[in-house]
Amino acid sequence: MRRLYDQTENIPSTSIPREMLRRCNALLSEVPSFRPRYELAKHVIRIFRRPAFYEMSQRCNLWCEGCYYFENEDRLKVAVERPQPDWQDFFEAEKARGVSMAYFVGAEPALEQQRLLAATKHLKHGKIGTNGTIRIDPDIAFRIGISVWGDDETDTDLRGGSVLGKAMRNYAGDDRAVMLFTLSPWNLHTVPDVMKASQDHGLAVTFNLFSPTQTYLEKIAQGLSSDEKFFRIAPEKGAPSFTTDELARASDVMTSAMEDFPDMTLCTPAFRDLITQLGPMFDIDPETNIARDCGSRIQGALKYFSTNLQAENVKCCTPNVDCKECRLYSGAWSSQFIPSAQFLQSAEMFEQWLDMMEMLGRVFIYPLPDIYQTLGSDAE
Ligand code: SF4
Ligand code: SF4
Repeated sequence: MRRLYDQTENIPSTSIPREMLRRCNALLSEVPSFRPRYELAKHVIRIFRRPAFYEMSQRCNLWCEGCYYFENEDRLKVAVERPQPDWQDFFEAEKARGVSMAYFVGAEPALEQQRLLAATKHLKHGKIGTNGTIRIDPDIAFRIGISVWGDDETDTDLRGGSVLGKAMRNYAGDDRAVMLFTLSPWNLHTVPDVMKASQDHGLAVTFNLFSPTQTYLEKIAQGLSSDEKFFRIAPEKGAPSFTTDELARASDVMTSAMEDFPDMTLCTPAFRDLITQLGPMFDIDPETNIARDCGSRIQGALKYFSTNLQAENVKCCTPNVDCKECRLYSGAWSSQFIPSAQFLQSAEMFEQWLDMMEMLGRVFIYPLPDIYQTLGSDAE
């Protein structure tokens, strides 16, 4: 194995087999103009060399239908969370451990901003997943991914209140913020209006596909009635699962977004095709039903810490999501650090992989590394 970058960490998910590296080099010789973009890809990948997930809060102020966090009866529940000084020390130690990319997850991290401030003092790169209803302190210098579930009307149904307008007012023009639109068969019709509103507020949009938890699917299969919490809509409407037709519709709305809002849409055709492909995105172990090749698996260098600051042995940051049904953007992006054989078969396909790596940086990294400016239009 050779590495796509010069680090010495043992991180299999970003190691590139020798044969693939040879093929990369052949493609770079065939099309020398790819070389600066390949350098950019390596730079981006290097930032993900030692990642970690941090659960920042066990609370949330919304009631999203099928929430990956609360619609999980087995979720880790920490009885006593650690006091603020411990968070300071913890992130200092995480810096010393060499964490290069931090993912701050929920329930709702914006409810625990002192913890985020402690992290920003020590960690250079991070991404906060938030619902956008609470403005995050400007001193917290991480990428902010604001979850979007449709327009305000859809929000009222699916999230228990109007969210989008408030999130847009909180983050209009904030260069940390990216709208993370979770598409489901219930909200595809709202995409054009949400794209327009995002553009009007200076907010770029990237896409995710709704991926149900096992608990949620089991309740639907058992025909349970509403619990008035995170299982309210499915008892009446059925599962928001992606059928073949719904996947084609999702693909179409992403295509329209890329065409109609090219400067505001953080997606590429290859990524669209990846998350809307028929069947599971990953190689599923038939014994465990867990994705064997998903880059979001908590293994190797990738760690997950709960709010008591202990490393937890969980499958991934959404442990109750069914891997067979999973189309989460996090698993999809984090599995692309090594170009698969399909992206090495021709210069055209390799360019699609380069496009994805450049977009990956735009979605996750704040501030955008200088190499994006250095390369100028070569990076576009
Ligand atoms: S904002 Fe996130 S954590 Fe909160 S209820 Fe919605 S999906 Fe769950
Ligand atoms: S992110 Fe990966 S490990 Fe987690 S549920 Fe999805 S496929 Fe499974």
